[in-house]
Amino acid sequence: MPRYDSVLLDADNTLFDFDAAEHAALRRALEARGYPFTPEAEAMYHAINRPLWAAFDRGDVTQDFLVVERFRRLTEALGGRDDPAAFNRDYLAYLGQGSQLLPGAEALCRDLRAAGCRLALATNGVARVQRARLEASPLKEAFQAVIISQEVGAQKPQPAFFAAAMAALGVRDKSRCVMVGDTLGSDIRGGIAAGLDTIWYRPRGGSPGDLSPTYTAASLREVGQYILS
Ligand SMILES: [Mg+2]
Repeated sequence: MPRYDSVLLDADNTLFDFDAAEHAALRRALEARGYPFTPEAEAMYHAINRPLWAAFDRGDVTQDFLVVERFRRLTEALGGRDDPAAFNRDYLAYLGQGSQLLPGAEALCRDLRAAGCRLALATNGVARVQRARLEASPLKEAFQAVIISQEVGAQKPQPAFFAAAMAALGVRDKSRCVMVGDTLGSDIRGGIAAGLDTIWYRPRGGSPGDLSPTYTAASLREVGQYILS
């Protein structure tokens, strides 16, 4: 019997290569508007986007606000006159086409399913983008539940998000449910607050700060070992 029978899996940069999807989508969105896609432009976007998502994780801004605001600020920084809402729409359409997986993601889901685990994709993100990417990926049949913050009206790390995920998955025994993710502030903080064991997927190193994940894994293969052993 696996150690855990219900597994909540973060999507971006845990199973899906979000960095690759984002890079490609940003390039297309910028070039379509006549901006050169330079390392500086990309760095500028990240410097704008990252703090806005951190503010969203804290509950300080809404997702609807941040997705447009990032392109308002980027357009301003680039000295352009684009409509930020249209810029964002185009970017999200390109992003929805980015369904590259990280190494080991397919094998992990297959092995967990083979062991009888029930899986939920548990993601903060724009629902139509996340659904498009899942649908285009080899993981589209892997999950018994897909929980997207925009659809449930709560986001990681809020307890209501995890309650919705566990309800959708039919979790009866919390001690046999685990949250897997790469982001401390949303995946691990939220999992712990919901009373779950957590696996911090940390391929690039780093310290957990004030948090104590149950396990820390450098690869998805290692994630599988913690769940199945
Ligand atoms: Mg993530």
